[in-house]
Amino acid sequence: MTLVPEYRAADRPAATVSGHEGGPEGGLSANNLIGMDRDQLAAAAVMAGEQPRQARLRGRQLFHWLYHRGATSFDEMTTISKNLRARLKEKFTLERPGTSACQQSRDGTRKWLLRFADGQEAEAVHIPEEDRGALCISSQVGCTLTCSFCHTGTQRLVRNLTAAEIVAQIMVARDTIGEWPTPKDHRMISNIVLMGMGEPLLNYDNVRRALTVIMDAEGIAISKRRITLSTSGVVPKIEQCGRELGVNLAISLHAVHDELRDILVPINKRYPIGELLQACRDYPASNNARRITFEYVMLRDVNDSAADARELVRLLRGIPAKVNLIPFNPWPGAPYECSTAKAINRFAAIVNDAGYSSPVRVPRGRDIMAACGQLKSASVKARRAASA
Ligand code: SF4
Repeated sequence: MTLVPEYRAADRPAATVSGHEGGPEGGLSANNLIGMDRDQLAAAAVMAGEQPRQARLRGRQLFHWLYHRGATSFDEMTTISKNLRARLKEKFTLERPGTSACQQSRDGTRKWLLRFADGQEAEAVHIPEEDRGALCISSQVGCTLTCSFCHTGTQRLVRNLTAAEIVAQIMVARDTIGEWPTPKDHRMISNIVLMGMGEPLLNYDNVRRALTVIMDAEGIAISKRRITLSTSGVVPKIEQCGRELGVNLAISLHAVHDELRDILVPINKRYPIGELLQACRDYPASNNARRITFEYVMLRDVNDSAADARELVRLLRGIPAKVNLIPFNPWPGAPYECSTAKAINRFAAIVNDAGYSSPVRVPRGRDIMAACGQLKSASVKARRAASA
């Protein structure tokens, strides 16, 4: 699949750059090169005075400096003439989002609350392992879906993140960790999970544009096999995502009966379990080597019985699946408690005995409010208190 369309100077007017996501309602300013794809960078070079016949080359060079080298100033871009660098500097910036808060847990988990130019904030979390690590990024500011176990669901949706803001989360994390230029291997940001704030399939166009930049082998270079998109079940977009992006899929399932899932994950009222699982069976990018992950948060006496586990096994029949059991990470005012260790182990054993891998996720970063949305709520409260 060609993810980056070819640049054709003739049919792409320079003004296209002003269509870059991130204007007044977006977070990164419209003249910021961060988040632009090759076509947009080529058009930016033309806007800065480059000859249209050189645009494609300049777009490629800018792409390399931004996403392979992590350049934070035009002066670093030594393969581009001084003259053009000066003109780019006059017209464009390379500004990252600000950081309202950055916390590091005793276990190494690091969490950023990023602040965009319009003052909106979103979270990114890095979960390091010994020789790799996953970065969990957000796709929206807040979320409309009000899943009853999720802290982000208590924050009203403010807006979608732009493609630039989604890409910028990775760049800020790489700046902090010092992972420039893009290493060939032994990366500490080896995997990306779209599992932070928001429902990525309700912001699909921006997510697609961002992932196209992120997956490009000449830039940030994180392959589709190392990217997982987690959805609560926006069924009509699931097939499109598999066909166009081919990333791994995770489903926030959390319940095996529609009555309960209607409460835990209310989008279930629109796309019930049967339809969701059919979309999983049809997902173009799944096979035995790339199983679909079913996320299942363990809520005490709510969804954690042996009968629930057996029903889960029945539902998953015929789907290349693995199950992630997530001990509930309580947040202040949460209406649920975490299942007991005994209930979690019983549930895991039933699913495992049926042939599905069912690891229990080890809680990470509990000392830094790592449950999705908590850091943002704390920041909003602190600002309210400061202005009172
Ligand atoms: S679990 Fe995901 S989809 Fe549901 S409210 Fe939270 S962020 Fe939104």
